[in-house]
Amino acid sequence: MQAFVHETRAARVVFGPGSRHQLLQELDILGIERALVLTTPEQTGIGAQMAGMLGARGAGVHGKAAMHVLREVAREAVDVARQLGADGCVAVGGGSTIGLAKAIALESGLPIVALPTTYAGSEMTPLYGITDGGLKKTGRDWRVMPRSVIYDPELTLTLPVPLSMTSGMNAMAHAAEALYGHDANPIYSLMAEEGIRALAHALPRLREAPADLDARGDAQYGAWLCGAVLGNVQMGLHHKLCHTLGGSFNLPHAEVHTVILPYALAYNASAAPWAMARIARALGSGSAAEGLRALGKALGVPGSLRELGMPEQDLDRAAELAAQTPYPNPRPIERAAIRALLQRAYEGAEPA
Ligand code: NAD
Repeated sequence: MQAFVHETRAARVVFGPGSRHQLLQELDILGIERALVLTTPEQTGIGAQMAGMLGARGAGVHGKAAMHVLREVAREAVDVARQLGADGCVAVGGGSTIGLAKAIALESGLPIVALPTTYAGSEMTPLYGITDGGLKKTGRDWRVMPRSVIYDPELTLTLPVPLSMTSGMNAMAHAAEALYGHDANPIYSLMAEEGIRALAHALPRLREAPADLDARGDAQYGAWLCGAVLGNVQMGLHHKLCHTLGGSFNLPHAEVHTVILPYALAYNASAAPWAMARIARALGSGSAAEGLRALGKALGVPGSLRELGMPEQDLDRAAELAAQTPYPNPRPIERAAIRALLQRAYEGAEPA
């Protein structure tokens, strides 16, 4: 076995249907007296419900979270938290809402209780992103890691089926890349393989029966494991490509991950056969890339960048950006090969 370093900075996790009703206990444990509830504009209803549970310990609902966490939006949220005398944040939502809570924590140190409603996994990571003047800056700081995470599958019942599918595939991408991360270790690899397995089994059930709480719970369990490895193992080509396509070409986050993953895995397959074998095993398939393509087809998710509305003439620039700065990846980043990968992803061709 290879040498490795394993570091655990665990958040407290409360898991299970109805667990959102334990919010006040979580605030007690963290010593939060007055919490600001954060949501997107679309999720203020559930935000109001959570604020109702807080009673006098609620500082209000701030429903202005949005994709990419714009600097102005983050500043306003920090001001609102200060003006309302909040000493903690309750983030109810997906990666965008948890991202706004992280921006507040970065500036003010306020602790976060997260109640995830998608499978993106941000609640389990010390990673943050803030967009300033059209440029998304990302960073890593343990101050932004939520202190307590309440996984209540009932909160995901309203997540539309197509977004549930792509959000689940987005989670699997974290685990797939963690299996070949340069700083991977046996513990996070166990979690990664189990996360892929749990999601690959849960998503087809969930597509058939979106209100199946058992399937929703299994998907959230998988998302938890995938988020935990995202926070602890450095990601490679797949995440770099998705960050470029999402940030510079404004393509939807979970859908881009869904389209790109089989192609990124095919690119890395010969350089990381041990990781591919574990992904394939978790999927119950003979091949990681083909297994993911087959799963995507069964789930009815988008299979090409063309379907996401990316103009073909942007592929050159995307390849340029993705090959610009070096980052760890099992197979060296070659511009021409990345350009070819993007062409196949654009057309929805078989991953090479
Ligand atoms: P999101 O948070 O942007 O949500 C997408 C839409 O779905 C929003 O309109 C939201 O209101 C709605 N929604 C969410 N949950 C719902 C539910 N249960 N019912 C009905 N509607 C619901 O989507 P996301 O994919 O979770 O997050 C994407 C963002 O998170 C990206 O900006 C990405 O970069 C970031 N992210 C960050 C990390 C990290 O570790 N920092 C990890 C993953 C994602």
